[in-house]
Amino acid sequence: MIPFRNSLPYDIQMNEVYASECPFCGQSHIRLPLKPSEIEQLRGGGIMKRPIVFPCCHTRLQLVDADGDYLLADRPLRS
Ligand SMILES: [Zn+2]
Repeated sequence: MIPFRNSLPYDIQMNEVYASECPFCGQSHIRLPLKPSEIEQLRGGGIMKRPIVFPCCHTRLQLVDADGDYLLADRPLRS
């Protein structure tokens, strides 16, 4: 079970994945270097880990799971 504080809310618009807010620098509406199909693979277990780099502040994050609303990271994103 991944704790809630490791979760990052996302939206899909026009086949692009957006985070509503970057947990590291606070910038809003960040387009993530991730495809909706990759979120499906994270959800289904097709890929176990997917590193992403935030375009706003270049923070590197390892995604380990997802659901319909949240991406789940391997470390806390909120306190
Ligand atoms: Zn950022």
